[in-house]
Amino acid sequence: MKIFCPLGCEEILIYQNLQNHLDICSNLEKNYKCNLCAKKFSVINEQAKYEMEIHKKNCEKILVKCIFCEKEMFRNQYEIHNYQCEMKILKCEKCKFKFPLKFKTAHDEFYCNEFNKFVENVRNVFN
Ligand SMILES: [Zn+2]
Ligand SMILES: [Zn+2]
Ligand SMILES: [Zn+2]
Ligand SMILES: [Zn+2]
Repeated sequence: MKIFCPLGCEEILIYQNLQNHLDICSNLEKNYKCNLCAKKFSVINEQAKYEMEIHKKNCEKILVKCIFCEKEMFRNQYEIHNYQCEMKILKCEKCKFKFPLKFKTAHDEFYCNEFNKFVENVRNVFN
């Protein structure tokens, strides 16, 4: 029995050779390999196409852009980066002032203290 390759390459195969062909088919990479991280999916597995679609949405090699500093990085680095991005906006609990993470020390040590002193003074004046 002669059949066309299920992966859509040009070859016409004998059914018995199908399995061997699927391992070397030139369309294999195109159809069943994540082009970002090179993860391969089993052709024999009926779910492979579906799994790959899901993988492609969640692949850790997807490039994402940090919403704070606009730097691009792999998805799996983003979580850590997001935690320590120096452009991340923080809000001070004490003075409610918003500032990027990189100014945190300056804020805590200088601005916030000064601001709170100022508020104290104003309170004292009105009390
Ligand atoms: Zn083929
Ligand atoms: Zn991938
Ligand atoms: Zn960032
Ligand atoms: Zn503050």
